[in-house]
Amino acid sequence: MLLDVDVAVRKLRDIAQPIRRSEEASLEDAAGRVLAVDVVAPVDLPPFDSCAMDGYAVDAAGLERAGAKRFAVIDRSAAGHPAHRAVGAGTAVRVLTGAVLPAGANAIVLQEDVDAADGVAKTAAPIRAGQHVRPRGHDVRKGQTIARAGEKLTAYLLAGVAACGVATVRVAGRVRVAVLSTGDELTDAGEELAPGAIYDSNRFALKSLLREKRAKTLDLGRVADEPRAIRRALDEASRQADLIIASGGVSVGEADFVKDAAARLGRLEFWKVALKPGKPLAVGRIGEALFFGLPGNPVSAIVTYLLFVSPALDILAGMRPAPPLGLPAKLETPIRHAKGRREYVRGTARREQGELVVAVVGDQGSHRLSTFANANCLVEAGEERADLAPGDAVRVFLLPEEAAHLMRAPLARDTLS
Ligand code: AMP
Ligand code: MG
Repeated sequence: MLLDVDVAVRKLRDIAQPIRRSEEASLEDAAGRVLAVDVVAPVDLPPFDSCAMDGYAVDAAGLERAGAKRFAVIDRSAAGHPAHRAVGAGTAVRVLTGAVLPAGANAIVLQEDVDAADGVAKTAAPIRAGQHVRPRGHDVRKGQTIARAGEKLTAYLLAGVAACGVATVRVAGRVRVAVLSTGDELTDAGEELAPGAIYDSNRFALKSLLREKRAKTLDLGRVADEPRAIRRALDEASRQADLIIASGGVSVGEADFVKDAAARLGRLEFWKVALKPGKPLAVGRIGEALFFGLPGNPVSAIVTYLLFVSPALDILAGMRPAPPLGLPAKLETPIRHAKGRREYVRGTARREQGELVVAVVGDQGSHRLSTFANANCLVEAGEERADLAPGDAVRVFLLPEEAAHLMRAPLARDTLS
């Protein structure tokens, strides 16, 4: 029996638990990490009534009452250098952007609307109280929560935290992730290929994907197709890691020992999902660690990482789970697809007249990493659908790191067949 993909994702959400470690981190180290505790603003932002433009700070009502909008310029307020004198009837203070609004003033007359000579200035422009003034606390109020536990400290969020002068934040500990490859045929890059051997790519793909998560990756290397060796490796991994990602050895072949090893050391939560590529995925627990046995085929390993490991890792890291963003797109090329399994196909999405159109990249064999090199998204073919035809509406999921490419003109890449 194959488990439905959505059911598998829901099961995972139930099993995955946030790790309980947290630490105080400087903003430098906190970038990209997950907040463990809300951040409350210790100050108002801006901290004072602030000048939004270069010009002259005046008392709007006073000036309008006076009829002739003439004023003597009695002082100057620049960013970081407040004025000493207050604005009164018939007077103004020269101000620059970012300066403290002088006492007594409530509006800024733009310098381009003012004729100034010999310390006296006049304007014909209408003056409204509050114009070009940023009131204290306009952006953020002291005591306001500016970032919440479970949020990732992106550059955008971090900027706001830094603007409030907060120097350190409490972040969730880094998730320790053990990565290992299984297979007698595997060889490390740089080594000579023996007959029948291939290079290990999964470990490098996974480690690279994990960098984006700020996980603490433990590379446990390659393990032979040997039950005892695999058990030993998984046992060791479970003692050092919060999450274990093994690849290979989870199918039904004679040399597929990983699933059984995990089941003997801990327990399997599920095995085999109604997914293509990635059917033999095994998920379980070994000791305290969450265990993923990804299929060995390189494309399957990456797809199952994106669908299952990535959201589970986010939960362990303390983030609230959010479903991936599927974008509506128009299919340009056919997809041969059988009902009953969900399929994710590598594709190239691009903008065309305000909509996304997506073309499937070449042949979709799960060994063909070369098709990933030309893809920027996965195209979803649902379990309820049969073959898809050009013009059909589909959902696409941009690959991590690829979202930015779509904002630019597409590269002219060779089309694989
Ligand atoms: P398995 O899941 O162990 O049956 O492997 C399925 C296919 O993926 C086989 O052709 C393996 O040689 C290949 N494979 C397994 N692990 C890796 C890996 N780490 N890197 C590249 N290919 C792999
Ligand atoms: Mg194998």
